[in-house]
Amino acid sequence: MLIARNLAAVLDRIHQAERAAGRPEGSVQLLAVSKRHPPEAIREAYAAGQREFGENYPQELASKAEILKDLPGIRFHLIGHLQSNKVKLAVRFASSVDTLDSPSLAVELGKRAASRPEPLPVLLEVNVGGEIQKHGCSPEQLAAVMEAVLAQPSLRLRGLMTVPPHTEDPEGARPFFRQLRRLRDRYGTDLLPELSMGMSHDLEVAISEGATQVRIGTAIFGERPLRG
Ligand SMILES: *Cc1c(COP(=O)(O)O)cnc(C)c1O
Repeated sequence: MLIARNLAAVLDRIHQAERAAGRPEGSVQLLAVSKRHPPEAIREAYAAGQREFGENYPQELASKAEILKDLPGIRFHLIGHLQSNKVKLAVRFASSVDTLDSPSLAVELGKRAASRPEPLPVLLEVNVGGEIQKHGCSPEQLAAVMEAVLAQPSLRLRGLMTVPPHTEDPEGARPFFRQLRRLRDRYGTDLLPELSMGMSHDLEVAISEGATQVRIGTAIFGERPLRG
């Protein structure tokens, strides 16, 4: 019951932020980030109406998708780094790959995704904070990655994603969210309709800066168990 209650509270925060930003209710999609939580936790969220989930590790995504395949309409987004040796898994089990960040990965993913009945939706991850330990292309590399994706008929370019540097104060993320939005605006919403940004502690800031998708883990599922 706790997960259902948390989910309702998060949806409420999202709706309030949509209103505050003068955006229509339902314009922001909730991705429930279930990494390191057991499949039963996902079932609980699903029973409460949640359909879109985010997972960080391709192996974990694949095993959960397999265990939960009895749930109609459930969708798993890969929101963690994708290594080329895991592309096959991602193509088979993910509904969307939200962390594409290089031309070579686009080529590899595009080749594999040709086996899918429908093109694979992808978001391009941009490292707007320029942190060396983070994945994502630089803003300068974005055009090349975008071009590589557009050249793959089995990939469907949907938008941009970012994980900003962590700051205690959620307002600290605002300049990075704004930078992602500006990058998007350079190409337009036809080419890049989705902006995936905002997590448990800063979703309001992200929505006020134009997020169309927020990725929420802790506020729904609680603290993550350590990796075993
Ligand atoms: C874990 C994770 C989230 C969720 O973070 P919370 O702070 O638990 O809401 C969102 N996005 C990415 C890429 C993550 O790895």
